[in-house]
Parts: sequence; C-alpha cells; structure tokens
Amino acid sequence: MADDNVRTTAPEAVTSATDSPSPTTSAPEAPASRPPRAGGRPGGPGGRERKYFRRKKVCKFCVEKIQAIDYKDYRLLGQFVAESGKIVPRRLTGVCTPHQRRLSVAIKQARNIALLPFGARA
Ligand SMILES: [Zn+2]
Repeated sequence: MADDNVRTTAPEAVTSATDSPSPTTSAPEAPASRPPRAGGRPGGPGGRERKYFRRKKVCKFCVEKIQAIDYKDYRLLGQFVAESGKIVPRRLTGVCTPHQRRLSVAIKQARNIALLPFGARA
C-alpha cells in the first residue's frame, strides 16, 4: 500500500522538476492531424454544383416574342401546368413576371372552357 503511493507520486515530481520532452511532444500531436485535411482539397471552391441537368432559364414568351398569350392554345399552356393541374411557378419555368401574369390568366380561361384541368384527378 505504502509503496504504491510513493510510486505514483514519484513520477509527477520528476516531470515537474525536469523538462522532459514527453509533455511538450504530446501537445503538438493533436494539431498535427489537421494539416492533411487542409491540404487534401484538390477540387477547391468555385464552380456550380451540377448534380442534374438544369436548363438555362429564359422566358419562352420573350424568346418567341409572344405578346398576347392565347388561352385557346392549350398545348402551349399545358407546358406551364403541372400534372396536378396547378400552374407551375415562375421560378421553375423561368417565365418573366409580365408573361407569367398573362399566362395565369390564359390558363384560367382555358380551364373554364375545359381545355385544361382545374385539379388532379384522384
Ligand atoms: Zn417574358
């Protein structure tokens, strides 16, 4: 019992008294693991993420110079109506605001004459 107490206290006194290399080397070991992380980055930032193909959004009506959207043209309107019957939001289709406004009016008119659905069928 007494011997054990003496042995445990003895090393502490030794390390504190003399500058042994063990405490100084143990401290830099932890940061030493960081450098490979910083260096191991070949790609680097910059460049868009292109996980899936995304077309450049341009207003279709501006491109084709369609001023008045015909509500009878259900093929055209159908491109901006989701499968659920909803009007596809502008941020998805890329249609500009004035055209989206006319488009939504045209779609609603087309709905009334049963060219387009109001909602999805169950
Ligand atoms: Zn437009």
